[in-house]
Amino acid sequence: HTEEEQTEDYLFKIVLIGDSAVGKSNLLARFARNEFYPNSKSTIGVEFQTQKIDIDGKEIKAQIWDTAGQERFRAVTSAYYRGAVGALLVYDVSRRQTFDSIGRWLNELHTHSDMNVVTILIGNKTDLKDAREVSTDEGKTVAEAQDLFFMETSALDSSNVTAAFHTIVKEIYNILS
Ligand code: GDP
Ligand code: MG
Repeated sequence: HTEEEQTEDYLFKIVLIGDSAVGKSNLLARFARNEFYPNSKSTIGVEFQTQKIDIDGKEIKAQIWDTAGQERFRAVTSAYYRGAVGALLVYDVSRRQTFDSIGRWLNELHTHSDMNVVTILIGNKTDLKDAREVSTDEGKTVAEAQDLFFMETSALDSSNVTAAFHTIVKEIYNILS
């Protein structure tokens, strides 16, 4: 394999989904550029960002798609989901309403993409300790019931952000290889 052929072998499309303002764009900004936007509007999202990740000595390109805020209008298009092999379904641990939306997002995901899309449930904003409305156990329980991977993150203090993206890429790789 030349280097180019090898990278072509592993290109994973991964979509970020979840309610507006849960931190999807900031998780991607933290992971891809180590940046954080304290007062971000939905407009900071790029269409997608490609990151190289090393798994078992193989270079994998993770093409991570972010919405441009369409989720606010429940108007995420089928093109967004098309070809996705992974999804990060994000809620905000400080807003229960975003946790209650998980079922709706799973329906949407399974309507528009393969049933086998590898999905990790992400409870974001763990830094907001005093404002927490959804416990770690509740997150775990839903993830187990829906057969999802699970992790809690903070895009603000960086905790588990790299781990979350690496986990999903590794799980996709395990299934496909
Ligand atoms: P999106 O609509 O899901 O893409 O959410 P954004 O990434 O635009 O974030 C919405 C708001 O939440 C912004 O003001 C962010 O600064 C804030 N935010 C995102 N992640 C975190 C986090 O981990 N902790 C805290 N405290 N705020 C966050
Ligand atoms: Mg966004």
